[in-house]
Amino acid sequence: MATVKNWQIGREMEYPFPESRPQRQFAAVFDLNKCIGCQTCTMACKTTWTVGKGQEYMQWNNVETKPYGAYPMGWDVRILDKLGPQRWQGQTYVGKTVFEAAPQGEKVLGYLPEELDWTHSNAGEDEAAQSLDRGAYETMPVHRHWFFYLPRICMHCTYPACLAACPRQAIYKRAEDGIVLVDQARCRGYRECVKACPYEKAFYNPVLRISQKCIGCYPAVEQGIQPRCVTTCIGKIRLMGFLSKPDEVRAERPLDFLVYVRKVALPLYPQLGLEGNVYYIPPVHVPREFLRQMFGPGTDQAIETYLKGKDDPELLGLLHLFGDTKEIVESFKAFPATGEAAGYDRKGREIVRVPFREPNYLRPFYDAARQVYRHNIS
Ligand code: SF4
Ligand code: SF4
Ligand code: SF4
Repeated sequence: MATVKNWQIGREMEYPFPESRPQRQFAAVFDLNKCIGCQTCTMACKTTWTVGKGQEYMQWNNVETKPYGAYPMGWDVRILDKLGPQRWQGQTYVGKTVFEAAPQGEKVLGYLPEELDWTHSNAGEDEAAQSLDRGAYETMPVHRHWFFYLPRICMHCTYPACLAACPRQAIYKRAEDGIVLVDQARCRGYRECVKACPYEKAFYNPVLRISQKCIGCYPAVEQGIQPRCVTTCIGKIRLMGFLSKPDEVRAERPLDFLVYVRKVALPLYPQLGLEGNVYYIPPVHVPREFLRQMFGPGTDQAIETYLKGKDDPELLGLLHLFGDTKEIVESFKAFPATGEAAGYDRKGREIVRVPFREPNYLRPFYDAARQVYRHNIS
């Protein structure tokens, strides 16, 4: 085991290989306040990449409803339960990661889901917590029901558990963008990666007898285009880009700004120790204790910053760039004087410009010229 730095848990940890960060890391931010659970992202990935034999139950992108939904069944409850007590002291995690808690003779603590666990991806969908909790409905107008949608893809982790566990060394992390791929020719289908990935984002294809996973839409990313699940997102909740190394932060990079500078986007279950690279803006209406166990000690600060976003031109402008261009936004700039934000490609060319506020057009209820009644929707 090597000793590596994991900034998400505020300390060094043990990992089977020495630290080796790519120059720029594939990363994404999902704003959970905006996801409507439409599953367009799921279908976009499905129809692009997993329509083959043996991929019937494979969802490289899935959207589950929290608190009750999980794909595969109970994945987070099961791995967190196995991991045992998870304690933080300030920004430092003092419990064990899945690498440090590995059983004797194994590289990672994990479990292999049953085949049936993959067949109910929509279980728990739209089910709210606390709906009948101590007759809460009788205490109206206090509205205590809550749920939220959690879209998930492979995290293209800095310390991938799938890669650590593979006995064939068939999984590799690309030096140029940090995308984690399975070499299909080397893989022998031992399923060690399926067992090891605590996010359950490595899948077994029983027809081809190999493992498969999200490829980060690398053919698009290589052309400067964001992945399918990002560009098709109806709620415009997603932004894919590149994250710098933690000690080389560049505030003009959208991902660096959201993750390192404003700290409004947080990793999912950072205590697992993989330093995943999909970050979430937590939903503001959900009980904090639920969010803290999911997104770590930065939760309260992130929500506070997000709620003040309307007075923060840079944050406000950047949040408006989500979903407004297919191209990868390499840098951005806010223009408070004109109330606009612009995004630029790698060569510094402007590729998108949006206003902070969409204009409102109020139309008369009755249009005499066309003799029709119109409703305004805002
Ligand atoms: S999320 Fe899982 S499958 Fe993806 S890189 Fe991390 S460990 Fe591997
Ligand atoms: S990045 Fe591409 S391969 Fe990965 S989940 Fe999204 S659409 Fe699927
Ligand atoms: S397409 Fe976007 S809004 Fe719809 S479920 Fe997926 S992430 Fe949520």
